[in-house]
Amino acid sequence: MTNTTGYDAIVVGAGPVGQFLALAASARGQRMLVLEAKAAGDARDGDRTLALSHGSWLMLDRVGVAARVAPLTTPIDRIHISQRGGPGRTELCAAENDLPALGHVVGYGDLQAALAAALAAHADVRHGTAVTAVIASSDIATVQAGEDRFSASTVIVAEGGGVLLESLGYEQSIKDYGVCALVARVMTDMPHRHVAYERFAEHGPLALLPRGDGFALVWTLAPALAQQTATLPVTSFLQALQNAFGWRAGRFVGVGERSMFPLVLRRTSDSPHARVVVLGNAAQTLHPVAGQGLNLGLRDAWIAAETLARDGRIDGRAFSRSRRRDRGANARFTDLLAELFAGTAPGLGAVRGAGLTVLDTAPGLRRLFTRALSFGRMR
Ligand SMILES: Cc1cc2nc3c(=O)[nH]c(=O)nc-3n(C[C@H](O)[C@H](O)[C@H](O)COP(=O)(O)OP(=O)(O)OC[C@H]3O[C@@H](n4cnc5c(N)ncnc54)[C@H](O)[C@@H]3O)c2cc1C
Repeated sequence: MTNTTGYDAIVVGAGPVGQFLALAASARGQRMLVLEAKAAGDARDGDRTLALSHGSWLMLDRVGVAARVAPLTTPIDRIHISQRGGPGRTELCAAENDLPALGHVVGYGDLQAALAAALAAHADVRHGTAVTAVIASSDIATVQAGEDRFSASTVIVAEGGGVLLESLGYEQSIKDYGVCALVARVMTDMPHRHVAYERFAEHGPLALLPRGDGFALVWTLAPALAQQTATLPVTSFLQALQNAFGWRAGRFVGVGERSMFPLVLRRTSDSPHARVVVLGNAAQTLHPVAGQGLNLGLRDAWIAAETLARDGRIDGRAFSRSRRRDRGANARFTDLLAELFAGTAPGLGAVRGAGLTVLDTAPGLRRLFTRALSFGRMR
């Protein structure tokens, strides 16, 4: 059955990027239809923790979501960067950059719920509606969801995995880092004082983000070791974490549910279609080392919403071209950090130490680096 639609655009996927785009566009008067495979309120991925940059926070504020989610977020005042068992350390500080916070730590599920609550009154959101195909012509795009078909002059693919893109002629490049992120909430016997830690540990980056009255852990490990560590009894897990991280954040005294994410860099080619726009993780999936994946997706979405409101539709090919620089710079920057954090080549520890020392002794450079992380300006 074909559903005639009076929508300006259709969004496939109500992840944080799809929802934010629909919200930003509907706030500018656009009629948006959002199709989401999961049931309403499905909290899968709810335990994943996200660090929103200050730039993202400002955008969420513009659509009224920052105030909704603020009670559930933890601001980051300082980021401490160091390497285990090696020289060099530095600290990035909000006050040094005249920023109220370097970032805001939030649960994926909490952000999703706040976006959904804000969006409900402004867009047609249909849960339990898995899109199986997108068909594009020169002046219209159609999405197929079971028996239903919906058409609009712009279809925005924000379904996270890029699965729908293959049949549309997009190409994807994938670099497998060969590691997993083991994520969990952990408790220490010291308050976090709004400090985030990024540590070059033996097997790769280990991050602790202040969240609530504890930390969110993102620990990079080889898949077999991650699997083994994820299933250790609590006391053995806490001991292994203490050994890997050290004592800077205090004694680890508790851990919540543990889950794992394989880490890849996946990039989708520019859009070959005028009527199809690809955003968020569907367009690029980054290593979480710099916490930039969602932040980049939100910038994509903000610009797409502005374009839609200005032109009444988005040219997918022009949009890809306009986002190439920001996307490329963030992918390269994140990949460089991932390789630098993970590398075990002889002398790399000394290079990391020297880099951290230079950053620590050069306030101008440190400010540039902090601004890059806070606003995603890697160019
Ligand atoms: C361990 C880890 C830590 C991270 N930390 C950070 C961080 O600190 N900061 C940061 O900026 N980023 C971080 N990221 C990245 C961040 O999680 C992603 O960039 C973000 O979730 C992408 O959002 P999205 O909306 O594009 O995709 P998703 O979150 O994947 O959402 C896609 C949505 O589309 C729906 N969908 C899928 N297929 C279909 C279909 N066929 N039809 C309809 N709906 C469909 C899905 O159900 C889902 O709701 C991290 C990632 C990981 C793995």
